[in-house]
Amino acid sequence: MGRRIAIIGAGQAGLQLALGLASADQEVTLVTDRSGEEIRNGRVLSTQCMFGESLATERDLGIDFWREDCPQIPGIRYSLGEPDGNLALQFGGKLRAPAQSVDQRLKMPRWLEELERRGGEIVYRDLDLEYVESLARDYDLLVIASAKGAFGKLLPEIFQAQPEYSPYSSPQRQLAVAYVHDMEPLDPPYFSICIVPGVGEFFVGPALTLSGPCYTLCFEAIPGGDMDRWGDVPLDDVDRHLAVCLEVLERYFPWEAERCQSWRLTDDLGVLKGALTPVVRERVGRLPSGAPVLGVGDAVVLNDPLVGQGANNAAKGTTVVTREILDRGQGAFDAEWMRQAGDRYWETVRFAARFTNMMLSPPPHVADLFGAANENPALADHLANGTNTPATLFPWIMAADGVEGLARELAPVAPVGG
Ligand SMILES: Cc1cc2nc3c(=O)[nH]c(=O)nc-3n(C[C@H](O)[C@H](O)[C@H](O)COP(=O)(O)OP(=O)(O)OC[C@H]3O[C@@H](n4cnc5c(N)ncnc54)[C@H](O)[C@@H]3O)c2cc1C
Repeated sequence: MGRRIAIIGAGQAGLQLALGLASADQEVTLVTDRSGEEIRNGRVLSTQCMFGESLATERDLGIDFWREDCPQIPGIRYSLGEPDGNLALQFGGKLRAPAQSVDQRLKMPRWLEELERRGGEIVYRDLDLEYVESLARDYDLLVIASAKGAFGKLLPEIFQAQPEYSPYSSPQRQLAVAYVHDMEPLDPPYFSICIVPGVGEFFVGPALTLSGPCYTLCFEAIPGGDMDRWGDVPLDDVDRHLAVCLEVLERYFPWEAERCQSWRLTDDLGVLKGALTPVVRERVGRLPSGAPVLGVGDAVVLNDPLVGQGANNAAKGTTVVTREILDRGQGAFDAEWMRQAGDRYWETVRFAARFTNMMLSPPPHVADLFGAANENPALADHLANGTNTPATLFPWIMAADGVEGLARELAPVAPVGG
């Protein structure tokens, strides 16, 4: 007999969990504030680059509908720059499986349709606590997968933050995003990550949007620094937004500015700016009535997008939680079960959170890592594949001698007699 499960939120986390459960004949009700049409006609939400392991979870559910149309990303190019715009070093790492980025404005509406096709119920409405309490009472399990909007403000009361994993009290980067057509491709078409220590980061990669293949650009400016330039640009002044993007590229990332001479925005809602404070919360929350609820996705583990992990975490973490729910059979989804399921979720995503926070304030030996990877293709590949499986970056990436040791281990073998 299927269990009755309510899920709040129709992002990567809520929808993937709902689709996994509905496919296994559970009775799923998904509650969200926006229809597919509203999402499709709305602003971009993310840059959502997803790596092989996460994409495999979508394929396993039969919901990776874009593989044929979405540009495939075979690797990552890393560029380390200096504040005067000089390129200090640049190297590429090959991914074992391609990455891809599908605009969530395409993905989420299609997944909402698919959920209904698979028997899920969708309730479109805004949330208040009374309604959330009624969901907790009326269903066998309530999962919260929504961190945004008015409901997001209630999260700190429901899910306690974990101070040991939440070192920040303010945003560490100011973000600016643009989706563009007609950017010069890289050959091979790698995702590009550029870092200028003390200034900020820029990443850009091929993606699929409403109007076809495009590039997503994300600027990560250190707050108050010289790259933090979008503050007084209204989001509807898209020409100015894009002009600031180009100014910043020309000043700090000129090797990328060269690729942008003929670019144009994909659409007027293809821009975004903002900031978030990374936080890790307990996965088991309590409503004011005392009812326990399970959290997944950004609702409980919110990372800065710096190394592109949030959507990947949602995909991998909800796959684990789906399995936990199904394995429970007819047993109660009580607080103790939630604690175990939540621990498994955290086990799956914790290295991504650690990697992200490390790169927000990189220790000096990260420069040595880049220097070593520049000389050593196997190390460069290892680094690139670490974005797919962050656990493989630990513990060696934490210390200079760990980086040295791995660099030695992966060093190219000199030809005999050479
Ligand atoms: C600029 C930027 C770039 C990023 N780039 C990457 C990347 O390259 N790779 C990567 O893996 N991650 C990236 N991320 C992170 C990633 O986008 C998120 O971690 C991921 O989308 C979170 O999914 P989620 O389902 O947890 O939450 P969300 O996507 O936020 O979903 C929440 C859902 O709840 C709904 N909702 C909100 N309020 C209410 C309400 N009051 N009532 C009912 N429903 C409500 C929303 O409509 C939505 O459906 C990026 C994020 C940003 C901001």
